[in-house]
Amino acid sequence: MEDSANLDSVQPGRFSLVVPKGTNVELGKLPGVGPKTVERLKARDIHDALDLLLFFPRAYRQTHRGLTGPELAQKRAEYAEIRGTIEHVKKAPRHGRAPTEVTVNADGQYFRLFWFNMKQTWFAKQFIVGHGIVAEGKIEWERGHPRMAHPTVKVSKTLGIKPVRSVKIEPIYSQMEDVRGATIRKGIEVAAKNVLPLVRRVLPEDIEREFEFPSVQEALAIIHLLPGVTYDDPQAYLDRVRHARERLVFEEFYTLQVDLAHQYAAGRRRAQAPRLSHKESGRELIRALPFSLTGDQKETSKTLVHELDSQIPMRRLLQGDVGSGKTVLAFCAAAVCAGSQHQSVLMAPTEVLAKQHFEKAKPLFDGLGMTVGYLSGTTSSSDRSQLLADLETGAVDVLVGTHAVFQSDVVYAEGGDRLGLVIVDEQHKFGVEQIEALLQKGRDPHFLAMTATPIPRALAHACFGELDLSIVKEKPPGRKPIRTVLRSVAARPRLYAYVKERVEAGEQAFIVFPLIEASDAVSHRANVLDRAEHLANNDLKGVSVGVLHGRMSPEDKNDVMDRFRAGEIQVLCATTVIEVGVDVPQATLMVIESAEVFGLSQLHQLRGRVGRSDLDSMCVVLASHQASADSLERLRAFESTEDGFRLAEIDLAMRGAGLFLGARQAGRSEFRFGDILKDSHLLEEARDFARRRVLGDVA
Ligand code: ADP
Ligand code: MG
Repeated sequence: MEDSANLDSVQPGRFSLVVPKGTNVELGKLPGVGPKTVERLKARDIHDALDLLLFFPRAYRQTHRGLTGPELAQKRAEYAEIRGTIEHVKKAPRHGRAPTEVTVNADGQYFRLFWFNMKQTWFAKQFIVGHGIVAEGKIEWERGHPRMAHPTVKVSKTLGIKPVRSVKIEPIYSQMEDVRGATIRKGIEVAAKNVLPLVRRVLPEDIEREFEFPSVQEALAIIHLLPGVTYDDPQAYLDRVRHARERLVFEEFYTLQVDLAHQYAAGRRRAQAPRLSHKESGRELIRALPFSLTGDQKETSKTLVHELDSQIPMRRLLQGDVGSGKTVLAFCAAAVCAGSQHQSVLMAPTEVLAKQHFEKAKPLFDGLGMTVGYLSGTTSSSDRSQLLADLETGAVDVLVGTHAVFQSDVVYAEGGDRLGLVIVDEQHKFGVEQIEALLQKGRDPHFLAMTATPIPRALAHACFGELDLSIVKEKPPGRKPIRTVLRSVAARPRLYAYVKERVEAGEQAFIVFPLIEASDAVSHRANVLDRAEHLANNDLKGVSVGVLHGRMSPEDKNDVMDRFRAGEIQVLCATTVIEVGVDVPQATLMVIESAEVFGLSQLHQLRGRVGRSDLDSMCVVLASHQASADSLERLRAFESTEDGFRLAEIDLAMRGAGLFLGARQAGRSEFRFGDILKDSHLLEEARDFARRRVLGDVA
């Protein structure tokens, strides 16, 4: 690739073609493109000649030419050229809605042509009975007769020579209300003439050759059907268009993947990470667990322990379905780190989750003679100063907490040099800059990100190509499938009678609502405050019902969670604050009200709060009357599978990558041409090539 200094750079996250600096032409400088058109195109994010060249046709119109009238009459809803003689003309009346009509006789077959709102005298006047006419448009049928609405026409005294049978292809650009297709077309031709020859190759030649891709110039010429591109067989031409598009998609993916591979390589080249070699501490922690690891857990722990023992910082994304047991792997890594005289930090997105991690970690690390600290936004100021002091002296080995752990006054031991490992749980809940801020607390610490929102492989590669990927699929042994059922709200009385019965038999339940309190805007959606009170006084009378939602103070939240964990609260009515991470193994029932408002991945997370022991668990999703057909389809998909990876794919297909990833990380999935789902094979290939190119054969 050329030195990028002399090239117009690719806008981050937005693929563009590359030309020598200063040669990209602004729209207004293109001959024949007026100021009004410039304004209108700008409003659509088309600013210069390159943008215009990357504005692809929406479709290709195929128009039949040279067919006889009877042959044309076989074509329905297809574009064609009709050649015949004018048989009859009916002018539109001055008042009223009737159209101007012309009947054409083509080789004995009659066609009715008509136009609404063409009342000008000159229009009807051009049609003279007995003269020849060529009309181009879409053939439709109405009451057994072929017709054409608003065709473009040419009229002449005689018909002239009949063209050969052929299919004419034209690119059709998305209609912009106020910019005509022909204007876009002309702009593209001018842009092509002015800048296309200057466009540089980004894709290495050997890749181009391997895939038999056309050059960028050829690809764009084919896509826009620029003058000079010829074709005989329309189908073969459309295949070329597809291949040309793939070339640009590939180039877009490749550009990003090269960038990610450079980031990946840069992270490794620095090679300043502390070697964390005390594997025995990890083993000791695992021995102290009341269970043995699953196969997937064992394998991943080996990888982690191996990578920590290296000057090349680990950069790993650990993906696992809900309940697959990722937390103990994080603990194992933290134990190796502490055993190697370094500090680690485990950050979680909510206080409830951070607290839970802390409480699980504490006895385990105590047993190893290691110290765990806890820091959140609610830590009292005296506890906080003590903790910060202990952190700085190195008295704290493992810090567990929320966003508080990367605030500016938090200093790890030896000015951060002792921070050996950064772990981020539910990584998708954090922004890139937050994670970066935490990593900056140390000097090249090892990094472990964990996410329980399984991302399809291709998307993970597209979005997190700078990280290595580990997948934990296997669930701990003894887990029974969670029975999931979809019900309408009519089933409530029976459902809650059942919940009561099971709770009285000693089990615990979550009931999730989308809203905290009644809202006028969406009054039909169940809200937790009203419904919890209602349930406590009616269906669940005599049962201890607790409430948990995001607007409660952190102390109140902790208190409720503690009481639920202790079994003092039997039914917990909550909003999605319990969505991530919450682990109360004796809870076996999950009811989700107004379930249609949640995305599939979110539902899967919620369901993952039960089925965490060897007891039978059940998840009931209630759809309100307002649920649309689409959302019911989504809920049925949810009912049908418990496989988080499968659900993620369905979710992605239904909602698109942006919504799927959520606002925090949506930018990572935005491509100009490429579609992460449909073009996933190209994405994988582009990644392989980019990694091999940048990293050599190690990748
Ligand atoms: P997640 O992957 O969703 O973060 P957790 O780490 O919270 O899952 O683990 C879920 C539950 O499974 C916890 O109660 C944990 O103690 C338990 N667990 C983890 N690994 C095993 C195992 N190998 N055998 C039995 N239980 C396990
Ligand atoms: Mg977890």
